[in-house]
Amino acid sequence: MTVYLHEEDLPEGVLGQGPLAVDTETMGLITPRDRLCLVQISDGKGDEHLVRFGPGSRYDAPNLKAVLADPARVKLYHFARFDLAAIEHYLGVTAAPVFCTKIASKLVRTYTDRHGLKDLVRELLGKEISKQQQSSDWGGAELSEAQREYAASDVRYLHAMQVILAERLAREHRTEMAQACFDFLPVRARLDLAGWAEKDVFSHE
Ligand code: MN
Repeated sequence: MTVYLHEEDLPEGVLGQGPLAVDTETMGLITPRDRLCLVQISDGKGDEHLVRFGPGSRYDAPNLKAVLADPARVKLYHFARFDLAAIEHYLGVTAAPVFCTKIASKLVRTYTDRHGLKDLVRELLGKEISKQQQSSDWGGAELSEAQREYAASDVRYLHAMQVILAERLAREHRTEMAQACFDFLPVRARLDLAGWAEKDVFSHE
C-alpha cells in the first residue's frame, strides 16, 4: 500500500481496470476563486496517486483528464458535487459516470443525519480516519506527511463503501433513484459554477 505523489499529471498506466475513487483538494470552497491543488485517485487495489498542481499550473494533464473523462470508468466520490465542479472548471472535463457515497448514504442511512466521510467509514467499515488536515494549506511548495496521508485516506475506502451502499440501495429499492441523482450531478456542478450554487431550481421560490 503506497501513496504516490506526482507533479502536474498522472503517469501513464499506473491504474488498473474498473471504478476509480476520486477526490480533490483546493484552496477553498469557492471554486473559481480557490484553485485546484490536488487530485487524488485510486483504483481500489491498495495504492493511492496524488497529482499536484502548482500555483501557475496550466492544468495540462492529458493522462489524468483521459481517465477522468473515460465514460467506461465509474468515478467514486464522497460529495461528488464539489469535486465535479473543481475538475470541470480547472481541468475542463466532466468526470462521470458518478457514484457518490454521500448521496447514497443520505438515501439509505435515513436513521441518521451524519453523512460525513469519517462517520461513514466508521459505521460501514469500522475504521477511523482523521479529518485534521482538511482545512490545511494545499498550495504550499511541500505537502507534509500528514497532508499526504490525509489526502490518500480520502480515496482509500470509497471502493469498499460503494459495495456496501449499493447493497443497501438495492435492499431499500432505491438503486434507480440513486442512479438518477448520480447522473444529474454533472449538471448540478455546472449550475454551481454558473451562479446557481445557493439556489434550488426545483423549489417553488
Ligand atoms: Mn478530500
